[in-house]
Amino acid sequence: MTTPIVEMDGDEMTRVLWKIIKEDLIEPFIDLKTEYYDLGLPKRDETNDKITWDAAEATKKYGVAVKCATITPNKQRVEEYKLKEMWKSPNGTIRMVLDGTVFRAPILTSCIHPVVKNWKKPITIARHAYGDVYRGTEFRVPEPGKAELVFTGKNGATFRETVYDYECPGVLQAMYNKDTSINSFARSCFEYALATKQDLWFSTKDTISKQYDQTFKLRFQDIFESEYKAKFEKAGITYFYTLIDDAVARVMRSEGGFIWACKNYDGDVMSDMVSTAFGSLAMMTSVLVSPDGNFEYEAAHGTVTKHWYRYKETGKMTSTNPVATIFAWSGALSKRGEFDKNNALVDFGKKLEKATIDTIESGIITGDLKNLCELPAEKIQVKDSKEFIEAIASRL
Ligand code: NAP
Ligand code: MG
Repeated sequence: MTTPIVEMDGDEMTRVLWKIIKEDLIEPFIDLKTEYYDLGLPKRDETNDKITWDAAEATKKYGVAVKCATITPNKQRVEEYKLKEMWKSPNGTIRMVLDGTVFRAPILTSCIHPVVKNWKKPITIARHAYGDVYRGTEFRVPEPGKAELVFTGKNGATFRETVYDYECPGVLQAMYNKDTSINSFARSCFEYALATKQDLWFSTKDTISKQYDQTFKLRFQDIFESEYKAKFEKAGITYFYTLIDDAVARVMRSEGGFIWACKNYDGDVMSDMVSTAFGSLAMMTSVLVSPDGNFEYEAAHGTVTKHWYRYKETGKMTSTNPVATIFAWSGALSKRGEFDKNNALVDFGKKLEKATIDTIESGIITGDLKNLCELPAEKIQVKDSKEFIEAIASRL
């Protein structure tokens, strides 16, 4: 390695897996260079969360990061860890600094079949995690009366329109988004499609929402035409816009192998549907991509707290699935290799993924996959995390 990757350590069971993965699957095989940031909750508390901001800035500097799952503190965690403050979600902070979009993609094996039988390749969901109903303002309307939408421009542009003349009680909601955020979302999607050489789909309801959703459609179209059309042609991939209901129907009939960009609410709902249909959260990776092409890789699941408490109580290794965390490492190392024209590193990332998939397909699995894996019962061996990782190492 010539350039380090930014390494963000984390919490609980995934922190335990992190160490084993490094020791057994990475360090014996490559001359690993990382810039290490400990985002474990004790260190975040000690540094007043500065470490998270530093790690995010380092990702901007180097371009590639790998992150372990971390605790987002709530009231109970403040007591458990005796925190000075209820620190914000590290993922939220990193996403804000990088202005990025999260892409979630399932890891497929030949022995776990998606519920949708024609899905042969992964479907990656990109969710615009800003604005809309998540930052909406809403009221319960208590009595008859008039609801108006008012905009007061700094330079005099002012609008006022009646939303509804209520003859009875009801509900009322306003929401917003902004061009800068939509543009960043679009660029992150186009960048990720190029990086993974997959077609990009985008869907809204612009026939009904003639200003709001139409703006999303037009921002994507403009940016595609002016910045990405030629690059997409060269890469042999396409950009495809359709209405959300048409997209849903096409996704169900498709064989997968594309990225589906969704507005905030659509992405929230659809990502849970797609990930469940593919199998398990433990087999799902997550990549944060910034509009200027920085990549942060992680698992889609959390710190697996229940397994951690069991591990702490008994001192016995659990059978927690490390696959998504291994793929976060392989993804980051391959991307670093690609940026540095280091083919050996790209190759190592691929081999690590293949060794992991081969291990599962040979019947060596973790407990969570027991009911999903369709191999004959006599072939299946459920291992603890350490044994499972050692089985991968022996294949590497
Ligand atoms: P979680 O850690 O994803 O775990 C929820 C349950 O899903 C587990 O109890 C386990 O089910 C199953 N599971 C998840 N990952 C698994 C794996 N790798 N192998 C086997 N089973 C797995 O979610 P959570 O319990 O809601 O959250 C725990 C902590 O993680 C919280 O403090 C939260 O703030 C944090 N979190 C962080 C991130 C992130 O850093 N990106 C994301 C989400 C949550 P069984 O118990 O049935 O085996
Ligand atoms: Mg959801």
